Amino acid sequence: MKSDVEIAQEATMRPIGEIAAKLGITDDELELYGKYKAKVTPETWQRVKDRPNGKLILVTAINPTPAGEGKTTTSVGLADAFARQGKKTAVALREPSLGPCFGLKGGAAGGGYAQVVPMEDINLHFTGDFHAITTAHNLLAAVIDNHIQQGNALDIDVRRIVWKRVLDLNDRALRHIVIGLGGKAHGTPRETGFDITVASEMMAILCLATSLEDMKKRLGEIIVAYSRDGRAIRAKELGVTGALTLLFKDAIKPNLVQTLEGTPAFIHGGPFANIAHGCNSVMATKYALKLADYVVTEAGFGADLGAEKFLDIKCRFAGLAPDAVVIVATVRALKMHGGLPKAELEKVDMAALEKGLANLTKHIESIHAFGLPVVVAVNAFPTDTPEELAFVEEKCTALGAEVALSEVWAKGGEGGLALAEKVAAAAEKPSDFHFIYDTAQSIPEKITAITRTIYGGEGVDFTPAAQKQLAEIEALGLDKMPVCMAKTQYSLSDDAAKLGRPEGFRITVRELRVSAGAGFIVALTGNILTMPGLPKHPAAENMDIDESGKITGLF
Ligand code: ADP
Ligand code: MG
Repeated sequence: MKSDVEIAQEATMRPIGEIAAKLGITDDELELYGKYKAKVTPETWQRVKDRPNGKLILVTAINPTPAGEGKTTTSVGLADAFARQGKKTAVALREPSLGPCFGLKGGAAGGGYAQVVPMEDINLHFTGDFHAITTAHNLLAAVIDNHIQQGNALDIDVRRIVWKRVLDLNDRALRHIVIGLGGKAHGTPRETGFDITVASEMMAILCLATSLEDMKKRLGEIIVAYSRDGRAIRAKELGVTGALTLLFKDAIKPNLVQTLEGTPAFIHGGPFANIAHGCNSVMATKYALKLADYVVTEAGFGADLGAEKFLDIKCRFAGLAPDAVVIVATVRALKMHGGLPKAELEKVDMAALEKGLANLTKHIESIHAFGLPVVVAVNAFPTDTPEELAFVEEKCTALGAEVALSEVWAKGGEGGLALAEKVAAAAEKPSDFHFIYDTAQSIPEKITAITRTIYGGEGVDFTPAAQKQLAEIEALGLDKMPVCMAKTQYSLSDDAAKLGRPEGFRITVRELRVSAGAGFIVALTGNILTMPGLPKHPAAENMDIDESGKITGLF
């Protein structure tokens, strides 16, 4: 079996202008980054913004397991299948982060014969958007420390600076650091730390902004610190909103690349799916919807995190509503949810499958709770048996969800034709999309609604520290925003070890953070890390490049 990077390197890419032309984008509307990558300019938006939207298809999944689910692969393959059926199609995805790329996960550009290319570029520096975010984030951090050094006119409480620094790598040694050592000329000593770039509020802002003007407004609203008398200090008070915005002048434009089969792919922005909302930029999705008749997009992690936030946060802000939702599952991962250890997943074990299926059926119920039609995509592995597949189909159909086998990893778009047909039919069904909570509700009410309806839990508890933060946020009048849940992706509960469909549990919120620029409250449950570490053998150890520039081991 060929590796993803080998398959990608064998592909014959077409010049990006030809791909853009499929969506009616002219050469004049493209800013080229070499032969196969381009940014689409705001002029394009001005030309198409009054058109009706195409169909929006959201791809989500069961709770992830180490067995792998394949959301990106399914998204790309489904888009290729639509294109094969003669539909004008685009896929909209997140930009991969370098941290997981060199760490555990490897690439995030799809897999097998359902990938976006040039995958090496997409997985590495791409068009520099992450550089822009990292730089703007750190400029603001430098300006805060300089403000204190120069007399601290805003009376910033140095113990309550909530703006850290970022880096797009996994580096656990930077989680907690002390800066400003060395004496008076070298700053004020204080404790701080680094987050990974994708966890930056500026990444979330880039992904929710609708224009450079909107970006500027949101950047100014970021709360960077509290004064000694408890006032929230915003980025705009430091006088650098203009400078921050100009660092985003190119990053704000959506990137266009292609799938292995030449389907246009927008890849733009990549916020963490825990402390941020986990989907590509609103602008990329909106451009795609005006330019294509079918748009396939992916939300991070499982449906409890990714889809819930796509629907309750992104769709609420952007005025979007998907026409159908695809839930990706694999027979292997379902057996793992049913208690089978990873080493035994190739065995047929109907009892484990039945038990694990409860995880999938919960997600089907959750998407139905949003009023949307569901199609389950069973991402095929060679070890799946007809008996197991028939059982999955029977259970999902009983809940009113369509099911299709997806063979896009092995066969590309050809392997997704059956899925595409079911998804297109589901997208024609009348839907009754509504949010799970109202932003006017209190923070505990909003989190309780998510916990009960989406996680299947009983309620929510706040630690004493979180209760204090809650009171402060309410006093500042900042509590009427959507809630962005930061929870383990592995379980419906906040305990990563509880697989399948746990019941009778409660969620514990241990910290609340205000992302006033992005426009949401982050509720942290369990032990959520915003700067990942590297595993014993990082993926980086397998990577190389030779004299001719040929890359190996990128996965
Ligand atoms: P997600 O987006 O859910 O994180 P990806 O689509 O990125 O998942 O897939 C994760 C990994 O699993 C990729 O390396 C991909 O090549 C592999 N993969 C996905 N589907 C299959 C499949 N049907 N058979 C074998 N490997 C697969
Ligand atoms: Mg993915």
